[in-house]
Amino acid sequence: MSTWLVTGASRGIGFELVRQLLHSADHIVFAACRTPHTAFALHALSVASDTHGTLHIVQMDVTDEESIAAAEEEVEYILNGSGLDFLINNAGISVANDSPNTLSSKALTTTILANVVGPALVTRAFIPLIEHSNHKVIANISTALASIGIDYGGQHSSYSISKAALNMLTYKQAKERPDLIPFVIDPGWVKTDMGGKEAALEPHESAAGILNVVSGATLQDAGRFIDYKGEIVPW
Ligand code: NDP
Repeated sequence: MSTWLVTGASRGIGFELVRQLLHSADHIVFAACRTPHTAFALHALSVASDTHGTLHIVQMDVTDEESIAAAEEEVEYILNGSGLDFLINNAGISVANDSPNTLSSKALTTTILANVVGPALVTRAFIPLIEHSNHKVIANISTALASIGIDYGGQHSSYSISKAALNMLTYKQAKERPDLIPFVIDPGWVKTDMGGKEAALEPHESAAGILNVVSGATLQDAGRFIDYKGEIVPW
């Protein structure tokens, strides 16, 4: 049994991560989402009879510091002295397929707020719970679009810039706290609202790979860029 918190758990990859965790073992899983009252899939999961774990649905908007603080208090109260083993910063947005010439201030700042500032503040808030856990893993969901080494050209600029900044944040977190295991993970191109219907992977394939990588992470993985298959991604 271990304790998990997944942000952006209402749908897409985040929901699938929570679903698989609850079916796999008696984990305690905190599913953080912006609007719990509309998170119908999570509520269905909470009453499903074939799960082994315990689900707690927690309100959290990663762009709202007060909401993050309230979620941390709630999680700390429920854990009652136990630590948080695995934090998956999954919540993210992509608002436009823009280029350096077409991007707007609003698209860039909104994307950076959700994809970089959000995970930075969430991790900072949960560090006290993570540091006295058994696993101490912080997985930040990035994308191959943020890799200069893979080189997708000028498309999806605001999104790619934000995720490249998330990669650097993760590197800094690993440098500052060598006792923790922060790393970035590329989930692959996944059929979700963000990835679209043409994507290569079903959510369950990506989530299974992510959980395999995240649950097996060791100190050697700190500061790395890894994909859902466990392979190193070039920066
Ligand atoms: P979806 O658009 O399907 O889901 C995004 C999730 O993030 C939703 O649960 C959404 O909540 C949540 N979210 C967005 N903004 C916030 C916020 N401010 N606070 C809290 N939650 C928020 O995306 P995916 O599932 O496809 O993506 C999950 C992660 O994987 C993202 O970080 C994305 O960048 C990354 N990724 C996805 C790829 C793909 O092909 N799908 C490829 C590479 C990376 P709500 O329902 O309230 O809107």
